[in-house]
Amino acid sequence: MEATKKRFILKIAILVVMLVFAAIAGVKFWQLRHYKETIVLSEDITDVKWLSDYCPSLKDTWLDTPVFIADSGVEGGTVFINGCPHPYEPASTMAAFLMLENIKVEKGKVIIVPRANYSGSTEGMVGDAYPRFFTVETQWGGETFRIGDRYTNPLDQWPDPFTYVNYPSGQNLAYQDIRNLNRTYPGRENGTITERAAYAIMEIIRQEDVDIAIDMHEAEILYPVTSTYVAPAKVLDREKFLETGVMEYIEPERNSLDVAMMAAMNIDQFFMKCAASPNTLHGLSHREWADWSDAMTFLMETPEIFIDKITGPRTEALLYEGKDEFLQNVTDKGLTYFPYDMEFGTPMWYRTARHLSGAMEIINWAALFYDDVECIVSWPLYEEMAEIEEQGIDSIGYFLKNPDAPENEANRFVIYHKPVEK
Ligand SMILES: [Zn+2]
Repeated sequence: MEATKKRFILKIAILVVMLVFAAIAGVKFWQLRHYKETIVLSEDITDVKWLSDYCPSLKDTWLDTPVFIADSGVEGGTVFINGCPHPYEPASTMAAFLMLENIKVEKGKVIIVPRANYSGSTEGMVGDAYPRFFTVETQWGGETFRIGDRYTNPLDQWPDPFTYVNYPSGQNLAYQDIRNLNRTYPGRENGTITERAAYAIMEIIRQEDVDIAIDMHEAEILYPVTSTYVAPAKVLDREKFLETGVMEYIEPERNSLDVAMMAAMNIDQFFMKCAASPNTLHGLSHREWADWSDAMTFLMETPEIFIDKITGPRTEALLYEGKDEFLQNVTDKGLTYFPYDMEFGTPMWYRTARHLSGAMEIINWAALFYDDVECIVSWPLYEEMAEIEEQGIDSIGYFLKNPDAPENEANRFVIYHKPVEK
């Protein structure tokens, strides 16, 4: 009897300890899920729409997200910039935020989505035990941003099937890619919510007559497509496919790959290469945006060692500075696809600056090839940010505005999955 009682007390004690841990973890998960990032929009942002304006079935889901438009009012090219297709590649979002805070547009129109997979930004990579947030040093103390997952949060889309079949190509992909925004293009109006977000992005490109569409990513340096532009050499013959179901690839009216190659060759501040989008790999932006719209399409990758599988502890410093001896070791053995030097690392400002200058290079070269797509726009670029870094100042923080300052009150914007009162 005595032994039974002891065992019972032990079980209760274990249960209490477990509940305490669950409660602590629960609070942390809740904080990550509901943390709201606030930015200060440039005066040149003329309109704010939502993904649900382009795909109404996204309304009231965690995949709805703001779409910012900077229209110069002067006829010219239309550029679409997609930030945060994979939230665990945060330089993509930081580049979009710096564009939104600093953009000036003189000709044409720029459309920016800074958190394309909002849902995926509300959790961390399951099983990867990495920090939830990172803080950018600013003149007023610091601004905190989320890191996020690669996939749509399972709280918003679950369960996954055994095999995911991309629509409409019919290609079989890994099961978890049904929650991967960059495997679900061109999407479906009434598909899974990730497919609906993909469809909404396609609709932005089609309805707004986008000429140049740029998708911003980051990649492991053990992965060949790091530090790369990816663009299609050929595009799907849509009419033939819709009539016969046969996928045939034809010369596009405007060649994105030519533009990307010139941009990659012209960039001398950092290492950048160029790759052709395969015709037979479906669901990705650089393939499907070109196949299902008339836009020239580009994907950009930076080197993000934080997501390489062989690093030391995944800390905020690793994410922000990118210094890791294991990757130095494998780079010295010629096993990585980036000239990695851990002295410099792959800092967040560097990756963000690469996207800002990489996108600008595409916009400028596209106009040289096809003058009707000219868009005259400005935002902070690599050289400027590198100079600020040399003075020991965080160049991302330098170009962010204080959302709490009274003079910025009118342009404050809270990034969430639904409109938030100021
Ligand atoms: Zn990515």
